[in-house]
Amino acid sequence: MSAERAGVLFNQRGGTGHRVTVALISAFLMAIVFVIDTFTEIEGAIAVLYVMALLLGSEILTRTGLLLTSIVCIFLTVLSYFLTHGPDPDLQTFIRLAVALAALAITMALLLRNDAFRAELIERNAEIRESEARYRSIFDGARVALWERDYSRLHAYLLELKAAGVTDLEDHARRHPEIIDHCIGLLRTVAANEAARELVGTSADSGSRESMADFIASGDKTFLHLMNAMFTGQAYFEGKGRITTDSGEIRQVLLSISFPEDTAAFNRVVVGMVDITQREMTEAALIEARAEFAKASKAATIGALSASLAHELNQPLGAIAVNAQTLLRWLDRDPPDLSAIRRSAERIIRDGQRASDIIHNTRNLLTQQESKAEWIDLSTLIDETRSLVEHDLKRDGIAVTVRPGEGVPQVKSVRVEIQQVMINLMTNAIQAINGAKCPVREIIVEIEPADGMVGVSVRDSGPGISPEGMEKLFTPFYTTKAQGLGMGLSICRSTLESRGGKLDGFNHPDGGAVFKMTLPIEDPHL
Ligand code: ADP
Repeated sequence: MSAERAGVLFNQRGGTGHRVTVALISAFLMAIVFVIDTFTEIEGAIAVLYVMALLLGSEILTRTGLLLTSIVCIFLTVLSYFLTHGPDPDLQTFIRLAVALAALAITMALLLRNDAFRAELIERNAEIRESEARYRSIFDGARVALWERDYSRLHAYLLELKAAGVTDLEDHARRHPEIIDHCIGLLRTVAANEAARELVGTSADSGSRESMADFIASGDKTFLHLMNAMFTGQAYFEGKGRITTDSGEIRQVLLSISFPEDTAAFNRVVVGMVDITQREMTEAALIEARAEFAKASKAATIGALSASLAHELNQPLGAIAVNAQTLLRWLDRDPPDLSAIRRSAERIIRDGQRASDIIHNTRNLLTQQESKAEWIDLSTLIDETRSLVEHDLKRDGIAVTVRPGEGVPQVKSVRVEIQQVMINLMTNAIQAINGAKCPVREIIVEIEPADGMVGVSVRDSGPGISPEGMEKLFTPFYTTKAQGLGMGLSICRSTLESRGGKLDGFNHPDGGAVFKMTLPIEDPHL
């Protein structure tokens, strides 16, 4: 018989030798039964004995083989019946034949059903094996440290505690701290993957250390929380914990466990751990760096504010000193010029008020309070600014021309801030004209609408901005003046920007510098 045909009739169970032996014995049995049934006088349903051959053959036959063998047995039974009883059978022998055929048919049906069951069982087994293999390969290959642990004894112990009336496990553990070690002792490691061995060392999979307690870093409360999660019947547990590796190193881990619903499955609970030591260290360093940075930026803010205050107060304090000297001179006159004294005193009050406003505004900045916004008529504000620097203008013989522009709307902003910017720009212009000893001594202030905003430019007849200045004008502490602080323009620009405006500096084609501030009609931040 060709191997292919044999494959149709015989299954693959056992070795070839076994199959041949069983096939021969079955055939021999069938032959014996046929001989006894045909050539002896024994009365009885001898053919029923073919069932033995069928049962034996089922061990090595496929469904087709079984079907064929059953047909052969039925054929032999009928053949022997005709050979023995000729064409005139009596009722008794016919009933015996029917019994034998029925026994053979029933046996065949049962064997075929059994074979179907067996095939299904084999298929299921193969599926289970395949799923187990897949699970194994995921378990072994995962880059997360995984353990299979037997939690059944711990689970049973926690159920016992519950039955004994414990309702709050954490409280119970506080009163009986020894139960934690006892519970740890109830755990058993079934298996661990490669990542687990990399994390902990070789003791990961065998639990070769004396107890799991060696593995959990001392003082770590995570295990108690884990027990509590089991105790309260939660489906999973996730927490940060600390473990001790084989080399004695302490590592921070993120632990996660899913608890099975079925009590019987507590003997194979998968525990996952991710090493977060590096992440935690980075986070701690980041928090520290942030605190350092906050300290440093506070110091920088205080430094910048002091510089800004010193710069802003310089002008009103200087003006107060000058007006006080003037006042003294008027007083020294004989008779004293009372109306001139009054004017000087009023200027002192005005400049004192400005200094106070500056301090108030700075304090608002520090306490993050919103400054008061109001509608400002820029041409009035410029007139006021001119009178504030009037003393310097007169002293240096500088004329100021204001070109108010047509249809310029009022702007809503913080008056003291805008005035401060104007004073800075005018003072810079005066110093530029003075420094260069220019023959033409003039400042032109122009106000004009600009794209839904309002622009104010201050042009002087000085030497203009140097190429180096062009790059660094707005850089804090950039100054070309012996007494300068280099803070004015940078403060002006950041003030205007924080109010939705901007400040630019450039040289006029006809000479001199131009500083142009642009303001929104209504400050979006106020
Ligand atoms: P400070 O006046 O204390 O020097 P500023 O920030 O107000 O600080 O100015 C920075 C620098 O910008 C000045 O030192 C000067 O070199 C240049 N600068 C400012 N205004 C003018 C101007 N109108 N013409 C030419 N250069 C100017």
